Amino acid sequence: MATQRRKLRVGLCGAGLGGLAAAIAIARAGCDVTILEAASELGEIGAGIQMTPNVSRLLIKWGVSEIIGDDLVQCNYINMRRTDGKVIQRTELYPKVVREYGFPWWMVHRHHLHCGLAEGARRHGVHIVTGARVAKIEFEQSPVKVTTEKGKEYEFDLLIGSDGLKSVVRRTLFPHVQPRAATNNAAYRAVLPYEEVWQKVPESREFGNAIDVWSIEKGYVITYPISAGRDWNAVFSHYRDNPVTDVEEDVDMKEVREYFKDVDPRLKKIIDIIPSTKRWPLLITGPLESWSNPQKNVVLMGDAAHSMHNHLAQGAATSMEDGAFLGRVLQEVVRGVLTLEEAVHLYEKTRMPRAWIKQQTSFAMGAMYMAPKPMDAYRDAASAASVEKTVEQQEILNLQTSSKQVTTPDANELSWNLWGAPDTVRSIFSYDAEGDADHAVLVYLSEKTPWDINTGMSEGVERKYTGWFLPEEHIGRITRAKGAKL
Ligand SMILES: Cc1cc2nc3c(=O)[nH]c(=O)nc-3n(C[C@H](O)[C@H](O)[C@H](O)COP(=O)(O)OP(=O)(O)OC[C@H]3O[C@@H](n4cnc5c(N)ncnc54)[C@H](O)[C@@H]3O)c2cc1C
Repeated sequence: MATQRRKLRVGLCGAGLGGLAAAIAIARAGCDVTILEAASELGEIGAGIQMTPNVSRLLIKWGVSEIIGDDLVQCNYINMRRTDGKVIQRTELYPKVVREYGFPWWMVHRHHLHCGLAEGARRHGVHIVTGARVAKIEFEQSPVKVTTEKGKEYEFDLLIGSDGLKSVVRRTLFPHVQPRAATNNAAYRAVLPYEEVWQKVPESREFGNAIDVWSIEKGYVITYPISAGRDWNAVFSHYRDNPVTDVEEDVDMKEVREYFKDVDPRLKKIIDIIPSTKRWPLLITGPLESWSNPQKNVVLMGDAAHSMHNHLAQGAATSMEDGAFLGRVLQEVVRGVLTLEEAVHLYEKTRMPRAWIKQQTSFAMGAMYMAPKPMDAYRDAASAASVEKTVEQQEILNLQTSSKQVTTPDANELSWNLWGAPDTVRSIFSYDAEGDADHAVLVYLSEKTPWDINTGMSEGVERKYTGWFLPEEHIGRITRAKGAKL
């Protein structure tokens, strides 16, 4: 008989962007997946989000990009600007990003992304229960018992805490951990229809199909198109006198206009037509010592485990990567290659340092955007030549044509704007969560199981490749090609 397959019931607490992505990945692994979501209706806040190549690859693979369709926008450039609007660094996005990273860089309305992931999850057979706020988790024995606020009980072999910043799963496992405002940095957000923006501020058409970022001391504004180019989206990074730890509703627009009063007049005019906004905290969670309980039947992911500053646009992306990674290691549990404990161990061991690196890189990116004097002058000088060059080279490099000419070296290869420096951040934007998981499993199996001195093959690696179809007595014959006993 081939290695026995295992049935696995996986519960997710929270149907945010991370929870839904994880649900798809884990359902694809052959598990029975249920998401318990506190809200009575599925949804996301009304704002934009960037989906970088490390996760656009997942949206494509899972069929979610097809569901979202034209509402995924690819921009031509990232224009980093001084406060007055002068471009200080420029990065080609489309089609360069696809050439550099293999996958697109999309701007999308969170609502469209969330609907696409939810529909993708349903198509993968995921059971989504809304109005189910998890209140109690009993994990000393397996299966884990979960009770909702309404008193409904569920049992799972593995419970995943995808419940965001205020995670009840994290509070249950690690009551001492609190997301913290590491700085007094916070963000306002705004979405306006382009029709209104262009009608009231016609000169804003000059910005074109681009991500534009205006740096100011102690702040920046990032804008980009979403919803198939129908909506203009903006995030305003700013500082307060005290740490911001919760969302503040109905911020007075006078405050926003005052903070950004010296910015590019074209942008200032758009700010003048924003009717209202809220203030969002930027909270850091961790780095934690562990993301799971000793029994390894409850594990954290996403913001619940590692919330980070938004400057690198990686919070939701990291959450989705967690989900993709979990899907791959749980698949090996279903196939009888790993135990659940081993899968959770590999997930933590591999993903925890990655999340921490991204937390640090997000800080670094924010610091460069908001560089104080005299650092801002060094920053601007470092990229001055590349701005001229990218404009000049636009045609030579055929970046906007269908020519197959490949052009190197690239003037933007080293850039203080990390989005424009493929070689500096290859581990982030080229990252393949599923490939990483597969590699972690193989390394683990090759270290854990005996290997043959002649072939160099380990029994565990052979079992992973052949155990699903070969009868037990034939597993190990590749490893022991010379017939020796291990
Ligand atoms: C200004 C700003 C801009 C950003 N821009 C980007 C960007 O461009 N790209 C990017 O990748 N990231 C970005 N992020 C980060 C991103 O928004 C978050 O990291 C991401 O949404 C976290 O997803 P999550 O699924 O882990 O958690 P959440 O989105 O918080 O989802 C948690 C879910 O759990 C549910 N829940 C909570 N408690 C319970 C309970 N007890 N029982 C059941 N359900 C529960 C909630 O209702 C919610 O649906 C940005 C963040 C900010 C603040």
